[in-house]
Amino acid sequence: MRKAVFLDRDNTLIYDPGYIHEVDKVKLLDGVGEGLKLLKEAGYLLIVVSNQSGIGRGYFTEREFWEVNYRLQELLEHFNVQIDDFFFCPHRPGEGCKCRKPGTLMVEKAVEKWKIDVKESFVIGDKDIDVELAFRAGCRGGIKVGVPCFENFLKAASFIVGEK
Ligand SMILES: [Mg+2]
Ligand SMILES: [Zn+2]
Repeated sequence: MRKAVFLDRDNTLIYDPGYIHEVDKVKLLDGVGEGLKLLKEAGYLLIVVSNQSGIGRGYFTEREFWEVNYRLQELLEHFNVQIDDFFFCPHRPGEGCKCRKPGTLMVEKAVEKWKIDVKESFVIGDKDIDVELAFRAGCRGGIKVGVPCFENFLKAASFIVGEK
């Protein structure tokens, strides 16, 4: 069984001005490359789980969502690290899907596909729903970045790696 860090994408890994879908706006946030590398070296799979209601709202296409992901991977090449997989929910709130965070379906799919021990895995995100996802999915922990204890991604990653 493997362990994973489930990663929110927007405003956790990359800056998001709101419904980001333009490749030329993709920018890594502070400490992300270094933090992901640290997690990868500690044996964690790096799996994005992202709410993308902009697709369901018709603001951008699934293809544009993937182009942002490919750009993210390109930026991470500089740090010699890559995201292992991407899961996303394209639905609007109120559609009653089971994937929109804090719903757990994206994590469940990843766990099955990659044979992950969810109890040894973490979530990192910038919203309360990301922390709630960790709790609901039965992860070891969930960390919200951009708060005093974890002001950037590297702080969160270092904390996880320090947990034995
Ligand atoms: Mg976010
Ligand atoms: Zn959904």
